[in-house]
Amino acid sequence: MKLNNTTIPAMNKSRFLSVIMFLPLIMILLLMDQCTTDKKSVYMRIRDHADGIKVIDAHEHQHWPEEYPARQFSFYHLLAASYLAADINCAGAKGFDMAVLDSLTPGDLWNNYGEALNYTRNTSYYSQFVKGMKKLYGFHDLYFTRENIAELSVNIEENYKDYKQWFDEAFNKAGYEIMFLDQYWKPFNTELDDKYFALVFHINPLISQSSRRPEKDTEPKDIYKRASEAGYKINNLDDYLAYCDHLFINNVENKAVCIKNSQAYSRTLFYEDVPYEVARILYDKPSQQLTPAEAKKIEDFMFHWIIRKSVEYDLPVQIHTGYLAGNGNVLDNSQPIKLNNLFLKYPDAKFVLFHGGFPWTGEYAALGKMFRNVYLDLVWLSQISREEAVQSLDVMLDCVPYNKFFWGGDSHLIEESAGALEYCKDVVSEVLAKRIERGLLNEDVSLEIVDKIFRENAIEVFRLRERLGREFQ
Ligand SMILES: [Zn+2]
Repeated sequence: MKLNNTTIPAMNKSRFLSVIMFLPLIMILLLMDQCTTDKKSVYMRIRDHADGIKVIDAHEHQHWPEEYPARQFSFYHLLAASYLAADINCAGAKGFDMAVLDSLTPGDLWNNYGEALNYTRNTSYYSQFVKGMKKLYGFHDLYFTRENIAELSVNIEENYKDYKQWFDEAFNKAGYEIMFLDQYWKPFNTELDDKYFALVFHINPLISQSSRRPEKDTEPKDIYKRASEAGYKINNLDDYLAYCDHLFINNVENKAVCIKNSQAYSRTLFYEDVPYEVARILYDKPSQQLTPAEAKKIEDFMFHWIIRKSVEYDLPVQIHTGYLAGNGNVLDNSQPIKLNNLFLKYPDAKFVLFHGGFPWTGEYAALGKMFRNVYLDLVWLSQISREEAVQSLDVMLDCVPYNKFFWGGDSHLIEESAGALEYCKDVVSEVLAKRIERGLLNEDVSLEIVDKIFRENAIEVFRLRERLGREFQ
């Protein structure tokens, strides 16, 4: 029907005019709503896609409950084993003591930790911990309270009565295919349940004990005790290297997928290039007489030797960089740029830098961009700071090809690991959705990036098909 002035009655005419007047505003509002809907749907499509991935988790420290002194696991036991414990301590509460936890009532525990726990409601450690409870226990509240902790704890205690079964259920529910297990607390153990885990060769003791030879006629300890039990006599540097090579072979035979260096917790990441002759002479000196500078020289030599071995056995070298867990350490030791000389000297080694190098995320990205042999594992970054992860991943995606990223959960119990995965999926989806919105990526490539970060890059770079002898679809 054609509309004109003569056919519109007076009342309808004024309504019609008001509609015409507000039409531009209505259009703008409709458009805004449309944009929001598109943004949400792009984010949700990426997020849903991430949930469909069988994740290759390139770094974990999962413990079995038998490894803890306590037998009955409550909410507070999980809290004590989590990263959030450090924030609670930072907020003023006493450090957790697993043994003491058993003797306290839920009321005592809330009285001891509740206030400090509440002061951490803003941190990423806190929200990531909530995410894990949400994913595995259907926890719906935004924050923990005295009351909802009591309810949650009943379920936790029930699950931990049969942790093996619970671990299996939670492992699958969280969406894992395999976890790389770094057992820094028992670095020589090579026996793992390969249904869940791939072995990581933790090499800190090989380095640190090279400058701690036992005194003559004393009982050997640590690596020297193991060597002697295996029939190796260590009288000089060559003997020590022969035993270390034996450890490499043993780990390779047990399907180790990489080696791990977390020495930034106890020393600088700068490893000087020390000639063999210098190290040999220093090693002959009784360790108790070594100056700190001399001890460092032997240790520096050892890491260079280990990197050469990693090339020989084609094992990528994972290295902790940046922020250090706990409540006190020397942050400067962990600056990623201190490793620069190694990347130049060993172009055939594969270096995997951890944690976004936080707070040096910019130089971390630059190293990943400069060196074809430097890979970036986002492990733990979003747990440390969600917003830092969002901003720095955006920068990293500007700089570094996406076949060079991995992800890991870096947790001691399955609940925290599940929360870490959920949290990083949120971060990656948010960054990619924003990049699509700005015309920097399309959706197909974004979905491919998600696959690469959470699964495919690890399969390729760590050669998991050959090493683990299993199919990865
Ligand atoms: Zn770790």
